Amino acid sequence: MATVTEEAVQPDASLASPERVAAFKADLVAFLGEKLYSPEQPWDIAVFEGYGRGLVATRDIAVNELIFLDRPILVGPRVNNYDVIFCASCCRIQKRLTLCSGGCRLPICADCDRSAAPETPHTAECTVITSWQPKDQKRYCKTILYALTSIRAMLLNDLESRIVFNMEGHAPRKDMITEIDRLLKDQIFANLPEGSANLTFLRRIVNVLNTNAFETFRIVQDEENNDHEIILRGLYILGALMNHHCLANVRYVFDENQVMWCHASRPIRKGEQIFNNYSKVLWGTQHRIIHLWFSKHFLCECERCRDVTELGTYLGALKCVRERCPNGRLVSLNPLKIASAWQCDKCGLQMGNLKVTKIQEIAGRMVLNNAIKRDEAGILEYLNDHVSRFLLPCNQFTVELKLQAIRKIQGEACLEHLVEKERFCREILTILEQLKYGECFVKGVLAYELFKVRMTIAQRRDEQGCFPDEPALDNLRTAWTILQHSGNRPRDLDQLAQCYGCNV
Ligand SMILES: [Zn+2]
Ligand SMILES: [Zn+2]
Ligand SMILES: [Zn+2]
Ligand SMILES: [Zn+2]
Repeated sequence: MATVTEEAVQPDASLASPERVAAFKADLVAFLGEKLYSPEQPWDIAVFEGYGRGLVATRDIAVNELIFLDRPILVGPRVNNYDVIFCASCCRIQKRLTLCSGGCRLPICADCDRSAAPETPHTAECTVITSWQPKDQKRYCKTILYALTSIRAMLLNDLESRIVFNMEGHAPRKDMITEIDRLLKDQIFANLPEGSANLTFLRRIVNVLNTNAFETFRIVQDEENNDHEIILRGLYILGALMNHHCLANVRYVFDENQVMWCHASRPIRKGEQIFNNYSKVLWGTQHRIIHLWFSKHFLCECERCRDVTELGTYLGALKCVRERCPNGRLVSLNPLKIASAWQCDKCGLQMGNLKVTKIQEIAGRMVLNNAIKRDEAGILEYLNDHVSRFLLPCNQFTVELKLQAIRKIQGEACLEHLVEKERFCREILTILEQLKYGECFVKGVLAYELFKVRMTIAQRRDEQGCFPDEPALDNLRTAWTILQHSGNRPRDLDQLAQCYGCNV
């Protein structure tokens, strides 16, 4: 069990000193072990001006080359409205809620229950939780489930906790209540008082998690053998060491064992920094900047953020509001300043930032809260009738809706919808190309969807003789290359790749 000391919870400014970095790397390599780490891997930890620690390429790295493998040092539930009940220990789905007999107020399956064996994977965390004396022990407590990933840090060994405490943890925003403070506010425990060493430890951990954790998942089957994806959060140290750039040079997936596979999405030269994108690829600049500011506390000034056209994609641009200016695009005069005015690139009309933000908000709400929940016909109708009137076809919300349509239009759809889907796949692939985004995860998903929809269209039109042509095989190869290690890759991908010889 990790030693809880006052020293461990003090934030440290010397994380980037050469001695600390060397010791930290040695610990990390020991944690990863021979199965995940080998000295041939082309990364090292370095200190970069303006960034602090980051990962550096130790030699030229080719596109699609594996850079590193990483496993979570901590993993568990997120603060998330789960729509199924699952065992807090092994994630098995529970048809009916069964609480742990140990009194920790968590849903636990029969195999993980403390009564199942002298020592189950749940025993140690249950002992920690029950030592704080949960009140109301007969009832399920979501608040404890949400705090479980932080609580698990109490069980880290010395090596692991040394690594975790070498990670930065930003204090929460003033208006945010963390899952740890929620335990206190809701008076969940009789014996976890304010000021106790345990609580100080948990607060430090929750900050490290909120600063660094990735969304990962576990696939579990219910009694009818249906797959469910349980979304979890995982602290991946190597993953978290990558700094942000809106034009990342890596992609990553998580396999069935929650191992992170990080590959180069673009060629990386020796000495260059290895960058991840903390935001969404297909978001416009204003959205990315606001998201990065509120969730990660920094402003990005990369070349994509500086370019008002976003490398010609106009993802964030708005439709000019002048009726006689049908093709005008409003873009920010200075994208790095959130408060900057916007201007039409055709007629010169200017618009204040408050108004721009209002339009973005309304568009976002209409698309993300409303339209996205419709069925495929509903989404297509919305795209063709409504969206085209107030948003540009290249706008991020239009793109988001098209992505949703791609997901929803599947094999049984009518030919007309399938043709639309093919068009959307091609459009978004073109945007990724304009961004020079390389062999990224979204490209893999779109390449798979494009292959499938073309296959279905060929069947419907009785043109199987002409399918798959070389471009289609290329799509399948791309999908396989990018998605093969992902634990939630499409179920038929392996079979398709093998059948068409694209899995080499
Ligand atoms: Zn279980
Ligand atoms: Zn328990
Ligand atoms: Zn940027
Ligand atoms: Zn205009």
